Amino acid sequence: MPELPEVETVRRELQPVFEGALIRGVELRRPDLRFPIPADMADQLAGQVVTGLSRRAKYLLIHTASAPTLICHLGMSGSFRIERQDDSYTPGVFHHERSKALAHDHVVFHLNTKTSEAVRVIFNDPRRFGFMLFADSAGGHAMLDGLGVEPTGNALDGRLLARLFRGRQAPLKAALLDQTAIAGLGNIYVAEALWRARLSPRRAAGTIAPLSGRVTQRADRLAAAVREVIADAIEAGGSSLRDYTHVDGSLGYFQHRFAVYGREGEPCFRPDCHGVIRRIVQSGRSTFFCPVCQR
Ligand SMILES: [Zn+2]
Repeated sequence: MPELPEVETVRRELQPVFEGALIRGVELRRPDLRFPIPADMADQLAGQVVTGLSRRAKYLLIHTASAPTLICHLGMSGSFRIERQDDSYTPGVFHHERSKALAHDHVVFHLNTKTSEAVRVIFNDPRRFGFMLFADSAGGHAMLDGLGVEPTGNALDGRLLARLFRGRQAPLKAALLDQTAIAGLGNIYVAEALWRARLSPRRAAGTIAPLSGRVTQRADRLAAAVREVIADAIEAGGSSLRDYTHVDGSLGYFQHRFAVYGREGEPCFRPDCHGVIRRIVQSGRSTFFCPVCQR
């Protein structure tokens, strides 16, 4: 499952192709992905100029001059492939194999880029957990309602975390995975952020903030760790271990950069810490942490 850094990587690499492009046509090769594809999608988008490509949590949003905003989600195995006259390129493939099997090419965008180059952008998705839906006329959708703050910007700070987590008995890990608090944060980067912040995933979320909601050092440290771990991963091109290991059984390229994720039984990387990374299960999912330096 791609996490937010990978989706942002894909967005950044699609942006120069989509932005300012004229959509000459859209081919729908099947009626549905995870959900039915809007029946009028091709009609609505043909002839439109793309005004922007943005991201909210793990949703990619394609904005056009006058059609509804198209909301795209990669699901488990979705990818976009950019095909030019003589080459083709799948953003994200650097660290993470993606299917190129033509049988899984489900949606094809025919574009004239802003430099008048004819390009095809193809959505491929073997497992079809991805989807494409139109937003409503105000640009909203039930999928986007209630999403929390983005972990990429300055809106996420210690003050906000203290306010969100005060009084909460849930473990810190569960509180960080709550999409209504912080949007798009997943299992891997929560583990990494907690290690950076030297906080235990088992600690009750409310213990990083007094009931007054006053900001604390711990809340400041955790907010900074979340922002940094996401920024570093975007810089490194995102990651997705699960799908990568599916393809050839080897470890993900990015794995070597993880401090705790997938490192059960290995020594903690923190200088002067002699801890050994442990794996526990919380809410049915693996949690990796150092029991010595994360308190
Ligand atoms: Zn440690």
